[in-house]
Amino acid sequence: MNLFALEKRILDKKLLIPRKSIEKRVKKLANQISLDYEGREPVLIGVLKGVIFFLADLARELSIPAKIDFIRAASYGSSMTSSRTIQLTKDVEIPIQGKPVILVEDIVDTGLTLTHIMQEVERKGPESIRICALIEKLERQETKVPIDYCGFRINEGFIIGYGLDFDEKYRNLPDLYVLS
Ligand code: 5GP
Repeated sequence: MNLFALEKRILDKKLLIPRKSIEKRVKKLANQISLDYEGREPVLIGVLKGVIFFLADLARELSIPAKIDFIRAASYGSSMTSSRTIQLTKDVEIPIQGKPVILVEDIVDTGLTLTHIMQEVERKGPESIRICALIEKLERQETKVPIDYCGFRINEGFIIGYGLDFDEKYRNLPDLYVLS
């Protein structure tokens, strides 16, 4: 597909989840996390960059103390196959040994990125790891990632907005859209 055709697809974006619904769902997830971690102080590790707004909103809705850090992975090779190589390009900076960790991700598609990140984080010896994902996509799952806190489950489509980009654009759209 040439660039013009891709841009046209962006212009044809369809509203998927409006900001009010995102806000409500994020509050629910935060309430559940606050209940589950009452009396504790989890470390929220956001997977850059798509997670920025989700993590910011989620963290501010928590009624428990929490630490915040970030991790970033880059994947090389075709995202259409499981032969992709995934490497960390930014590691966590807070010591997490013996700490309860919640990995916060924007979207889980094949599951390969998060599986790799979980393995890297596990090596640091946290007390526990749970996963919180804004969106779980069902169409291309290759590895079943155990998502403990899931915002929305969708079957298919390429999602943009609320932190999610297409070619580094559209992250700042406040709602979630699907390319139609
Ligand atoms: P996975 O390794 O699970 O296949 O891919 C995870 C990463 O791919 C996400 O963190 C995200 O950066 C990117 N990704 C997967 N699906 C989408 C999508 O629908 N929209 C956008 N913007 N990024 C996606």
